[in-house]
Amino acid sequence: MTLLQARDPRTGQLDFSFEAAGRTDIERAANRLRAAGQDWQALGLDGRMAKLGELADAIGRHHQAIAERLSVDTGRRKIAGREVDGTIGAIHGWLAQAPHLLPDGWTDGRMNPAIRHAPQFVPYALVGVISPWNFPLTLSMIDTIPALLAGCTVMIKPSEVTPRFVEPLMVAIEEAGLKDVLTFVQGGGATGADLIDHVDAVCFTGSVATGRKVAAAAAGNMIPAFLELGGKDPLVVLESADIELASDAALRGSVLSTGQACQSIERIYVARSIYDTFMDRLVEKAQSVRLNWPDIGTGEIGPIIFANQAEILQRHIDDAVAKGANVLTGGSVETHGGGRWLKPTVLSNVTHDMAVMREETFGPILPVMAFDKVEEAIALANDTEFGLSAAVFAGSLEEAEAVGRQIEAGGVSLNDAALTALFHEAEKHSFKLSGMGGSRMGPAGFQRFLRRKALIANTGKPAPIGAFAEDAP
Ligand code: NAD
Repeated sequence: MTLLQARDPRTGQLDFSFEAAGRTDIERAANRLRAAGQDWQALGLDGRMAKLGELADAIGRHHQAIAERLSVDTGRRKIAGREVDGTIGAIHGWLAQAPHLLPDGWTDGRMNPAIRHAPQFVPYALVGVISPWNFPLTLSMIDTIPALLAGCTVMIKPSEVTPRFVEPLMVAIEEAGLKDVLTFVQGGGATGADLIDHVDAVCFTGSVATGRKVAAAAAGNMIPAFLELGGKDPLVVLESADIELASDAALRGSVLSTGQACQSIERIYVARSIYDTFMDRLVEKAQSVRLNWPDIGTGEIGPIIFANQAEILQRHIDDAVAKGANVLTGGSVETHGGGRWLKPTVLSNVTHDMAVMREETFGPILPVMAFDKVEEAIALANDTEFGLSAAVFAGSLEEAEAVGRQIEAGGVSLNDAALTALFHEAEKHSFKLSGMGGSRMGPAGFQRFLRRKALIANTGKPAPIGAFAEDAP
């Protein structure tokens, strides 16, 4: 038995202990889910939709309890509440879409109309979901909801850094009568690795380093792995951009959730002719951002959830400064009441030789570079091993679109930043090291949990072997 402890990001106290699920616990849970899976599939889409509607209602009834625990896990209150709202909204969104996403019926063959085909969609019996600490509820449920609707059962392994929200959520899951088809196993990396050995497909959200291990383990088990990994999202601000709007988008896109979001803006390229004015506005706005300390009910940004992340943020700032960058505001990780915090940190005079321009930072740091030609900005934006998302700001949508089409990333926000956090209807893949597998957004987010089976019918006569004789006419 391994006992784990979770730290409160506002106090630094290790005040929550829990047992990590071992291999036999996972095996038992997997057997139970698989046994219930047949009835779950037999319910049909309508029946499953009704049950998920009950889940949305139950989560609504337990909103406060879930949000409160999530708030301790993450050190922020407003976003915790929004995670719960967002989960309920996501269920309703999928309920509205799911009935329209699968083709039905027979199609005549093109080569031989007598041979017809029809699709059948067969869900993976058991899907494993492994989630990170930055949006503990959202990223546990984002793949779970469409997987359940598709007819899969689901086992979730949330991050060991943020385990508290699970208990009240499980109460809602039980109340909705879904505990036989949806369960959580708590634990760290070892529990995640064990989970991969007991499921038929795995959805992983987390770092590239762990994603590689998950991909290798899934390949060994010959199961699909859907990987949503890190990013180093660029924002390109063209000369024609409205500086007020662009600096608003840059700041929000970089520092919302303390920058602990995969789709956060991590580097900014600004046309040289507007660079100085843009920087003045950005720094002024960055300085008005408040920590939600000491009162969790005020301010815009919360603590650094994962203590080790604070060291990474400071290392990126120190490395940049050592190589010639200037800190225009912010710059030092602060300790308040045992928690770690970083005010929005704007850096100028940065280059692609600095870690802050190359590695995922995952914090409220805004390194800004000037560019002369649009082609140079596009090349800089693409000079990365990541390809999660990106953003372009310009005076017109056409101009932003023309640049956006040349950026190698799965989602590009035009005249805003980080829109993939707010808008989940468009399909998108993760480019380069940012992930692999089908889109989690849009119709594919549901369809990818169903294996395609083809029923192929001959309405004419089967060909005899003689039709294939070497000397047949
Ligand atoms: P992480 O990779 O450290 O951990 C993610 C999960 O994997 C945790 O639950 C962890 O316990 C588990 N795990 C660790 N070792 C494992 C193993 N060997 N086998 C199976 N599971 C294992 O990531 P993190 O630090 O929790 O989260 C931050 C990262 O997540 C950042 O890189 C961020 O960009 C990424 N992220 C990506 C998206 C996206 O949609 N692309 C969204 C949010 C976060």
